[in-house]
Amino acid sequence: MLFPATNAGSLPKPEWLAEPNTLWAPWKSSGAELARAKRDATLLAVKIQEDAGIDILTEGEQARQHFVHGFLENVEGIDFAHRVEMGIRNDRYKAMVPQVVAPLRLKGRVHADEARTARAHTTRQLKFTLPGPMTLIDTVADRHYGDRVKMAFAFAELLNEEAKALQADGVDVIQFDEPAFNVYMAEVSDWGIKALERAAQGLTCATAVHICYGYGIKANIDWKNALGAEWRQYEQIFPAIAKSAIQQVAIECVNSRVPLDLLKLLDGKVVQAGVIDVANDTIETPESIVKTVEAVLKFVPKERIVLTTNCGMAPMRRDIAEAKLNALGAGAKLARQRLG
Ligand code: ZN
Repeated sequence: MLFPATNAGSLPKPEWLAEPNTLWAPWKSSGAELARAKRDATLLAVKIQEDAGIDILTEGEQARQHFVHGFLENVEGIDFAHRVEMGIRNDRYKAMVPQVVAPLRLKGRVHADEARTARAHTTRQLKFTLPGPMTLIDTVADRHYGDRVKMAFAFAELLNEEAKALQADGVDVIQFDEPAFNVYMAEVSDWGIKALERAAQGLTCATAVHICYGYGIKANIDWKNALGAEWRQYEQIFPAIAKSAIQQVAIECVNSRVPLDLLKLLDGKVVQAGVIDVANDTIETPESIVKTVEAVLKFVPKERIVLTTNCGMAPMRRDIAEAKLNALGAGAKLARQRLG
């Protein structure tokens, strides 16, 4: 199928599960009740996407509080009780982060429940997101390894373990989220890509990397405004990604200042093109989505284009996110009719 639609990963959580319209939202229940609420919300996320005409579904990241720390919660060697303030993404914002205090090891499965719940309730393709190694080490404080690269590879091994298990659960696409790639560009070709390949090693399902300019929160919008008229970060990292074993690259297209001719640097890769802006509440139209697809088509062959959202929708209002998903499904359908 041409132009299959997916989303970056996260969807807003229902208010009975967690505090709405916020990142790092506190849960509304605990224990067995929380586990049931997460399962119900996952089921709802699947249904909403199916109804919207999304082809490659996610579980909406309903069972994790944050896209990085959701993974860390099941990792041994991390002290969540004594968080410290750290500047992350090169000091773009301050966050209270847990500390790595001992060798890292998985306590067990991290995302089995939500992956299996989603798998049991849809016959469509399922994509599952995990944080990439570079983004992970940029979101925790190191009190043990004393070396960024060493810690990144330690995380990559754990990610690989969970990714293989997710594949066995029936996941069709594993996507690693690496917003840090747009910040530490020199390190990407130096070791970032290698760490990512380590995380994806041995997978036979499709593999993807999502590299965005962040959620639509104020710190990110301010940062984007400071990046100048053209955002050329991708230019520095795409050549290394093109040479890597990762098959798909998810990037921001709509309303970004990324010159789309940079996509030529991803020759051979599937491009998950962001056609939905997550930094505003204006609902895209199928027509506007087709226009974005046409712009991407100048540089990427049509059989290698997947439509997605620029980034996750976790902090958005639910009604807005649902309307945007509906637009995405309708836009993909129209693109198939017009450009197929
Ligand atoms: Zn993102």
